[in-house]
Amino acid sequence: MYREVNQMPRCATCGILVPTQEIRFAHHERRLIACSERCVGLYDSYRYPRYRAEIEAREAAGDVSIALGYAAG
Ligand SMILES: [Zn+2]
Repeated sequence: MYREVNQMPRCATCGILVPTQEIRFAHHERRLIACSERCVGLYDSYRYPRYRAEIEAREAAGDVSIALGYAAG
């Protein structure tokens, strides 16, 4: 199935497009997508602690699209 770029998942950690072979993982009760096991680890050790305020504000606003690394459905 063809997907527009903005409908493709992006890695929740590094933001690159993940057209195939996405890794799904759970963090702070959200289901997220990563491009690699490395990014799964970095989300927990780096991205979430560093950007927690932004992430929580975005989630509170309902901005949880796959373009931001959230698993759909
Ligand atoms: Zn990544």
